[in-house]
Amino acid sequence: MIPSALRLILDGDALVSNWHWLAHKSGGGAACGAAVKADAYGLGAREAVKRLAAAGCRDFFVATWAEAEALMPWPADLNLSVLHGVGEEDMAAALASPARPVLNSRAQVERWKQAAPARPCDVMVDTGMNRLGLTVREARSGLLDGLALQTLMSHLACADEPGHEMNERQLGIFRSLRREVSAARYSLANSAGICLGGRYAFGLTRPGLALYGGIPVPGDAEQEAGLKPVARIEARVLQVREVPAGQSLGYGATFVAGQDMRAAILNIGYADGYLRPLAGRGHALAGDVRCPILGRISMDLMAVALPSGADAAEGDWLQIDFRLPELAGELSQYELLTTLGRRYRRVWR
Ligand SMILES: *Cc1c(COP(=O)(O)O)cnc(C)c1O
Repeated sequence: MIPSALRLILDGDALVSNWHWLAHKSGGGAACGAAVKADAYGLGAREAVKRLAAAGCRDFFVATWAEAEALMPWPADLNLSVLHGVGEEDMAAALASPARPVLNSRAQVERWKQAAPARPCDVMVDTGMNRLGLTVREARSGLLDGLALQTLMSHLACADEPGHEMNERQLGIFRSLRREVSAARYSLANSAGICLGGRYAFGLTRPGLALYGGIPVPGDAEQEAGLKPVARIEARVLQVREVPAGQSLGYGATFVAGQDMRAAILNIGYADGYLRPLAGRGHALAGDVRCPILGRISMDLMAVALPSGADAAEGDWLQIDFRLPELAGELSQYELLTTLGRRYRRVWR
């Protein structure tokens, strides 16, 4: 096997601990599921499902039929829902799959009723986000009669802003919908929605971000104490160089050494999801010495300063800052995770 020079160290115990924390927050009456779309937010869906299922999670969500297919064979005792629903071109894959669609539009509902009315399905209703889902009026109209409706769901637009008036408004609409549309279960809350409290949990919650170590409301002491980082990045030193005072480093010559200094060139760049805006705030750790990023991040490389006391030589592994809430800035924690890319060896511990 060709050795990989980049590693994503994944903490399976932290993943499971985060799921237990979210399950507890979801309250006694609600099951806690897991959004594993986008390859479990970049960490690896197959491994994430295996660990979460072993911990007791039964309900999983992907975006597309291709993502569902990548998880086959699927254990018979687990539910898998495909959030984008079924287009005409998806029907063959959907009918051959143990996963079920989340029907989002009138056309999707009619397509499913015609092809497989007895097969279980979920339905998404839009309660104010205006993204995917039937209108409330469509959901109430009798359109859903005759479906084997498992989960009726909606999605919160502003759950990461606990004081936002949208939250209560969407909750109210979803509550009245529950009285009018009969389904085996009801589901409203993502990670941030779970943190809004038990009223948002209904029968099933659908966390993603917080499972993987994201903090839905950065600065919230309870979330920061309860949720653990799952992913750690380790990159290698390709070269250590002396940069004389007055010389520049990297594209655009944006960094100029104020004094003679040492720099380490690492084998990680924006193609690995270490995106260019992180240059202002990320760092590497040589032992416990912080080594700030110098100049622009390249596609496959970045440079860090080696301050005095930083011990790093060619070939060494350095840990790269991946504290999600601190690092995100104008990016989102979601983007930091889902852009990680294919060049890491994903090592579960
Ligand atoms: C992605 C997604 C989730 C998970 O959201 P997080 O904010 O990552 O917890 C839940 N429900 C739906 C419909 C989604 O698209």
